[in-house]
Amino acid sequence: MISYDDILAWVRRFAAAVTANKAYLTELDSAIGDADHGINMDRGFTAVVGKLDGLASPDIGAALKTVGTTLVSTVGGASGPLYGMFFMQMGGAVTGKEALTLEEFATAFETGLGGVLRIGKAEPGDKTMVDALIPARDALRAAIADGASVSDAITRMADGAEQGMLATVPLVARKGRASYLGERSAGHQDPGATSSHLLLRSAAEVWAGR
Ligand code: ADP
Ligand code: MG
Repeated sequence: MISYDDILAWVRRFAAAVTANKAYLTELDSAIGDADHGINMDRGFTAVVGKLDGLASPDIGAALKTVGTTLVSTVGGASGPLYGMFFMQMGGAVTGKEALTLEEFATAFETGLGGVLRIGKAEPGDKTMVDALIPARDALRAAIADGASVSDAITRMADGAEQGMLATVPLVARKGRASYLGERSAGHQDPGATSSHLLLRSAAEVWAGR
């Protein structure tokens, strides 16, 4: 099972990873965007961490929804509404739950991804965060089908995101600011796919050995 404390530890771990990678994410965004992805994510997750201690009940759904609404209200760039939607939708799928099975986590993840796809309208290969999240979803589903432990399944999910992130390098962007560059966007790793990999790698690190 994945507990309420596990979920909060994941969010805190990712917030720390974002701070540690703030300059790197911004540097990636300077090549094909407007050099603010690390700044945007760090502003949002610093605000998120400030909210976590004040949460009233051990409700995973409510906590994830708070993460999402905080991101929407503090991050101006495209990533604010996209990550905000991911967490709000994920939370909505697990309202009132104090712990999640791997299956429930996977379903919540898919619901979050569905929200990102609905508002961003990106398709696989458009060079966005979706290119990390979809292979992650597929790897998680395959791991569950194999009967993997929580730790192994989440590691395979993160590995899927990493492969998807690396595969954005040669792609020509068709969504977001990077699409303004056309062919010149090829040869650079997508910042949002990179932060999405960090998000899922943070879960794998925090839940190792489970
Ligand atoms: P902005 O582009 O507004 O400056 P950020 O720099 O914070 O926002 O985030 C850029 C990232 O957002 C991109 O690298 C990409 O992964 C993601 N992104 C942009 N548009 C979309 C979209 N329509 N769907 C999914 N992800 C997107
Ligand atoms: Mg940007």
